[in-house]
Amino acid sequence: MARSEAAPSLTLIPADEARRILAETPPVAKERVALADAVGRVLAEPFAAPADLPGERRAVMDGYAVRGADVAGASALSPVVLAVTGNVPMGDVFPRAVGVGEAVAIATGGWLPPGADTVVMVEHTAPMDGGARVEISRGVARGANVVERGEDLTRGAAVLPGGRRLRPQDLAMLATFGVTRLEVYRRPRVAVLSTGNELCDPGEAPRPGQVRDANQTALGAQVQGAGCDVTRAGMVPDDATALRRAIARLLDDHDAILLSGGSSIGVKDVAADALADLEPPGILFHGIDIRPGKPTLFARAGRKPVVGMPGFPTSSLIVFDAFMRAMLWRLGGEGARDPWPARRAARIGREHRSVVGREDYLRVRIVEREGGVWAEPLPGGSATLSNVVFAHGLVRVDAAAPGLAAGEPVDVLLY
Ligand code: AMP
Ligand code: MG
Repeated sequence: MARSEAAPSLTLIPADEARRILAETPPVAKERVALADAVGRVLAEPFAAPADLPGERRAVMDGYAVRGADVAGASALSPVVLAVTGNVPMGDVFPRAVGVGEAVAIATGGWLPPGADTVVMVEHTAPMDGGARVEISRGVARGANVVERGEDLTRGAAVLPGGRRLRPQDLAMLATFGVTRLEVYRRPRVAVLSTGNELCDPGEAPRPGQVRDANQTALGAQVQGAGCDVTRAGMVPDDATALRRAIARLLDDHDAILLSGGSSIGVKDVAADALADLEPPGILFHGIDIRPGKPTLFARAGRKPVVGMPGFPTSSLIVFDAFMRAMLWRLGGEGARDPWPARRAARIGREHRSVVGREDYLRVRIVEREGGVWAEPLPGGSATLSNVVFAHGLVRVDAAAPGLAAGEPVDVLLY
């Protein structure tokens, strides 16, 4: 299995400690964008309601604006007849009040004229005298079919926190309040590059001993999915000087670099060496007590993260999912957020032995049988790529746990 990951003198830190350090990643700068361009962007300042919403009492049904006291007692046996004094034009207001015994036709969204506090649905009315009067044959509660001023939001209410990734409904709210430009974080520009003398481009036929570079493509896709702009910066041989040069060049116009391969401590593992003289704080950890993905290296050149991802594509994929996506969210200004919002409860299909202190990620398939939902671990270690492809998700085995007993309840963290 993954003996190449088991370099003896890597100083492992607990997974929780790694997450704590990664969460301290400072955000990129802010910029102003037009509202229409803001979907998926991260709001930089909290937004509070600048006014009551709605600003006036409005109808939520087509019908008649009336005084509630006039219609409360209406019934089929003793219908109420009201004088229709006009209608509320859409986009405008009715110029007079609604008096006792009066009704004004109104459409959904219309502002209720002064005096009116209730809307009778048109379905519950019958016109009389060519529309000059209207008969109401059903009791209507006072305040029915209206939305009161400030019922949706009151002025000053906290609506969107800073650090929120904006969704279409958030934009609807901002548009409603007349916000047309807003302050968001810049989209992080992230470079991914692969290291290893053995790598060749996916478009090439590998010579004996070569493997096609899968990580640039996979990491690039994950980085994009985390809301960042990605540069696929190419492949670099196992040469500390070449790697140092590539990193220095990429740091000029990127906010973060994710390189893969060479992150352990063998002779050909040059990532740590290449990151050794970054601007402070430099290397923050080298090695996490996890499986797969132990040889993960994290450094910062000033505010810019430089990450050494493990070389095996499976390890790199899982380390990104488990640690680096949340780190890139922080870089992009997002607040704390559950990296695994989609989970499914299941029972583990077979025993898994772990080590107390180490956090494991099992690749599992979800199978429904015997009336239950089972998470079946797939065979293979970090050198196996098919297991992440066949997996429906991951089961995280807590660092404090010695493992999982067959049948133990688990949460599958869904892909
Ligand atoms: P390393 O972390 O450099 O020791 O690499 C561990 C294993 O992952 C080796 O078998 C490498 O050939 C393989 N590997 C490293 N980088 C890549 C990559 N970009 N694409 C595919 N396999 C890789
Ligand atoms: Mg290598």
